[in-house]
Amino acid sequence: MDLENFEALGLSADVLKALNEMGFEKPTEIQGQTIPTLLEKPQDFIGLAQTGTGKTAAFGLPLLELIEPRDRHPQALILAPTRELAQQIGKQLADFSRHMAKLNIVCVFGGASITGQMQEIRRGAQIVVATPGRLIDLSKRGAIKLNSLEYVILDEADEMLNMGFKDDLDYILAQAPDEKITWLFSATMPKEIRRMVKDYMVNPAEIKVNPDNIVNTNIEHKYAIIKASDKTEALRRMMDFDPNMYGVVFCRTKRDTQRVADELVASGYAAEPLHGDLSQAQRDAVMRRFRANNLQMLIATDVAARGIDVNNLTHVIHLALPDDWEYYTHRSGRTARAGKKGVSISLITKGDMRKVRLLENKLGISFEKAMIPAIAEIAKNRVSHWSEKLAKQEPNKMLDAEMMLIAEQSLEIFTREDIVAKFISAQLDRILKQNSLSDLNDNSKGNSRDSRDGRGDRGRDRDRGRGRDRERGERGERNSRGQEAGMHRYYINLGMMDNLNKGGLLRFICDNTGLEGNDIGRISLDQRHALFDVNEKGSTKMGQLNGQKYDGREIRVNRDDDGGRKTSDRGGSGNRRGGSFGGKKGKSRRY
Ligand code: ADP
Ligand code: MG
Repeated sequence: MDLENFEALGLSADVLKALNEMGFEKPTEIQGQTIPTLLEKPQDFIGLAQTGTGKTAAFGLPLLELIEPRDRHPQALILAPTRELAQQIGKQLADFSRHMAKLNIVCVFGGASITGQMQEIRRGAQIVVATPGRLIDLSKRGAIKLNSLEYVILDEADEMLNMGFKDDLDYILAQAPDEKITWLFSATMPKEIRRMVKDYMVNPAEIKVNPDNIVNTNIEHKYAIIKASDKTEALRRMMDFDPNMYGVVFCRTKRDTQRVADELVASGYAAEPLHGDLSQAQRDAVMRRFRANNLQMLIATDVAARGIDVNNLTHVIHLALPDDWEYYTHRSGRTARAGKKGVSISLITKGDMRKVRLLENKLGISFEKAMIPAIAEIAKNRVSHWSEKLAKQEPNKMLDAEMMLIAEQSLEIFTREDIVAKFISAQLDRILKQNSLSDLNDNSKGNSRDSRDGRGDRGRDRDRGRGRDRERGERGERNSRGQEAGMHRYYINLGMMDNLNKGGLLRFICDNTGLEGNDIGRISLDQRHALFDVNEKGSTKMGQLNGQKYDGREIRVNRDDDGGRKTSDRGGSGNRRGGSFGGKKGKSRRY
């Protein structure tokens, strides 16, 4: 059969005429496959396709052919999650049926007068489009008889469940007669829908139009096998390796998101958690910072990340694979939007390989094995970044003959190579000093590609986790948290005693001043107080913190610029400005 044009699909002349007028020239893929199937014989049906693929016409056109126009009682019920969607469906069906005689389509939804809707149904309608809650109200008032329905169509079934209509759907499906024909359309097939299919549908035909490939062809799927305890470290290494990484890390629980974000922030990365316990205002603030690129990584739960539409994300990272494989598609679809490329990488333990294979089968994708870069590789990468940057460095205006002389005097005995080596080594020290050298890739059980750099204390990562501050300048390239020029140091009477860590304090400051994460520099936290750096713009806002309450206690913030010079050596690119060249207090930091 030629599924390439509507004439071939078995539709009547009236409908074809309307389609033609509406500018529907060719059926979409889901339409081409679904319409003949539904017209062929009465049967239950599952149609899976992404939004925007034309599902309304896929079920609407065959339905119009199957309805008996002369019979004016509701024969078909179409359920949709929201008023807007119900209205859109109603409008499309009205358009499709404009040349069909005597067909009434009624749209009912909450938030509008129920009596008017009752009258409309009473006047006679063959098709009712409804949101579940209102439909139940109408049925309880006797305005519509569920037990004489012939067709029940669940549109956007996954979304209806997400919106909490599970019980309503159960009620409606149970009240409708056993002989009814049920068509279900959805973008995904979570467990709960499978359960409904089993309970209410009989041998449904199923058509699935590449629901995953539509968004996924631009996504590279990868996995890395590591130990569960190495996951955050692996994340850090990936971020170190690729300073342009910008993405979402998915965790299974709220607590995980908080923990991972805290660990990243503690080591100087711009990351924040997004989970359901945040207030709307907090969520908005986080998303604003993320969109503005002030956050490199958003650490999110599945639920909280639903509907995140941020373009240009380079990576989606699964810190744990989702329990439900449908979610994998949801998650990875956050990257590679609008024709861009993206990487979806799963950090898994050996036992999870089974799940990866399952995903490959279910989704028709293939995964490539990735290796977590060894410190040596990261170092190499950073040296190349850093030298490129150095090559572009313009001589600073302050640099004069005297300064050159001072430097040259101390360095004159060295060759050019020596000096380059020294510069690089200063960079490397930073990376190497406190990183474990262990190979994070779990190569046990005969994985072949394990000859990399596992030398030394493999797996005995002694110093992981703490004291990684020294690195922050290194990755400052994109998140600019590591800027030192023009920073001012402040004291605040909040500390660990207040159950705050650096991330918590950063959020508190930002949320109460309207500043963004990159207005704030280094934070160091004590039991009772903290010191933090703020840029020029942020300085003007610090007054707003004074007198605010935290846990009932009044906040005090003071300028504490004295120690400021000390902060300047955390800067990116090995910059020693402000420290080395003859202590012109403070001044040297302005630039
Ligand atoms: P879905 O329900 O899958 O999200 P819709 O049924 O709402 O998608 O259709 C999306 C848009 O595409 C609508 O504006 C619809 O009018 C239009 N459309 C659907 N099928 C066709 C087609 N065959 N030719 C042209 N436009 C179409
Ligand atoms: Mg739709």
